[in-house]
Amino acid sequence: MTALNETHDPKLISWVASANLPGNDFPIQNLPFAVFRRKGSDEAFRGGVAIGDQVLDLATLSSKNLFAGETQQAALAASGSTLNDFMAMGQSAWSSLRLALSRLLREDAKQQAITAQCLLDMEDVEYALPAHIGDYTDFYTSIYHATNVGKLFRPDNPLLPNYRWVPIGYHGRASSVILSGDDIQRPQGQLMPPGAERPTLAPSKRLDFELELGIFVGTGNSLGTAIPIDQAEQHVFGMCLLNDWSARDIQGWEYQPLGPFLSKSFATSISPWIVTLEALAPYRLPFTRDADEPQPLPYLDSEHNRAAGAFDIQLKITLATPSMREAELPGHTICQTSYRHAYWTLAQLITHHTVNGCNLQAGDLLGSGTLSGPEPHQLAAMLEITQGGKQPLTLPNGEQRTFLEDGDQVTLRGWCATKDAARIGFGECIGTVFSR
Ligand code: CA
Repeated sequence: MTALNETHDPKLISWVASANLPGNDFPIQNLPFAVFRRKGSDEAFRGGVAIGDQVLDLATLSSKNLFAGETQQAALAASGSTLNDFMAMGQSAWSSLRLALSRLLREDAKQQAITAQCLLDMEDVEYALPAHIGDYTDFYTSIYHATNVGKLFRPDNPLLPNYRWVPIGYHGRASSVILSGDDIQRPQGQLMPPGAERPTLAPSKRLDFELELGIFVGTGNSLGTAIPIDQAEQHVFGMCLLNDWSARDIQGWEYQPLGPFLSKSFATSISPWIVTLEALAPYRLPFTRDADEPQPLPYLDSEHNRAAGAFDIQLKITLATPSMREAELPGHTICQTSYRHAYWTLAQLITHHTVNGCNLQAGDLLGSGTLSGPEPHQLAAMLEITQGGKQPLTLPNGEQRTFLEDGDQVTLRGWCATKDAARIGFGECIGTVFSR
């Protein structure tokens, strides 16, 4: 989905005043989806759309007789306690609801009074996972991350020869995908420190984060069929922020030969709001592969993918220690990168995932992999920032970190901004570490 339409017009203004404030993540050009209810209530969770500092309640809105046909069907499907049914409806339904919501929220909308009855203050709501996530797959799409990590685990052989040919991934754990704001319990596991004779069971001492994007599958494919690259994006509903918490000491001992297992499956945080692929249309970039790199195999290549396969999504990590938070200091920015540096595009991930006939389903979640870029300020995990714990990170208040300590709070943020389009954002994905 790369075509621009009236919903992307940077001149659109909403009658919801907070949506028009510069720097706000949720202007009328964004319209991301979440599942929410009033904070502390026993109301049913239902779908909502963010506009400024408000949430538009789709369950209430769909009872107001404002929509018809496919748009009404879409609004009803998005009113349930998960968005799976809405995600399964496909591009035309997602697009028609987006257009209808955009028109309802514009400054000259006639139905403003009715629509205003369906708004709640964002600070008064709590969220649920936006979908029932049947399967979670984590990819490894930054060659910078793969090389940096490879150097630490295998100094003589940092980047394995398959990397430049295969979008590397593994099947993650869907049951431990949690929401932004949920605390992260330090996991225990088998640790085998260098020089030790035998492993011990102990709490991880090398707890880390990974800045990633989460990709929600919309329409799936049937078992035994593959999704061609030029249809791949039609199967993607949208993206959120994702923190793939990782215990590096558990990982280093367990990962060969089958890849990560308990070092990753204790928690994966996602942000509540899913920004649709349609909303991301103005921020597409060409996908290029340097001439001295192997070019993608034909099934991972297309004219469209070359012309606009990449996304310029700006990403940032801040870290706040307990003493920084006590002193009311802001989180310190420890990484600022962009999804544009990914070695494989989103379409290539979908196509590769299904090339063997594997069936994706509505609500499946893909992780992009840690999105480190080429520069030192673009490293998206502590493992890279501190070179495996060898070079501590010094924070502005003088504290140092090699890996995360109890009480440390990690916040991911993402946004898109270009001169011909409105700035849109992803909100945030927060997690705080604790030990039991
Ligand atoms: Ca990961």
